[in-house]
Amino acid sequence: MMMTSIMKMTNISKNKSMNEKKIPMRICIGCNEPKSKKDLYRVVKLPDNTLVVDKTGKMNGRGAYICKNAECLDKAFHNGGFMRSFKMRISADQLETIKKELENDR
Ligand SMILES: [Zn+2]
Repeated sequence: MMMTSIMKMTNISKNKSMNEKKIPMRICIGCNEPKSKKDLYRVVKLPDNTLVVDKTGKMNGRGAYICKNAECLDKAFHNGGFMRSFKMRISADQLETIKKELENDR
């Protein structure tokens, strides 16, 4: 038998294009959208209730993730994201401190 006609398999099934790579996703406490960790900062609460930006990703303590922009910091401040994550109210001063830390990092 002659197999002259090769079947065209152009119809590649791409039904699961969501399964690209396993990127660890975290929810931003500002916009509540899942982002990959590299697009987020981790904010950690120290035992003395100050919040710091964890640039190493290895600090101990309760942490929350937030996008690398001031907008999401504001959102997290106003929508209670910090409150939910850290079980405490943060002051506007603390918000400013975190913002400055993030800005310095750019
Ligand atoms: Zn965000």
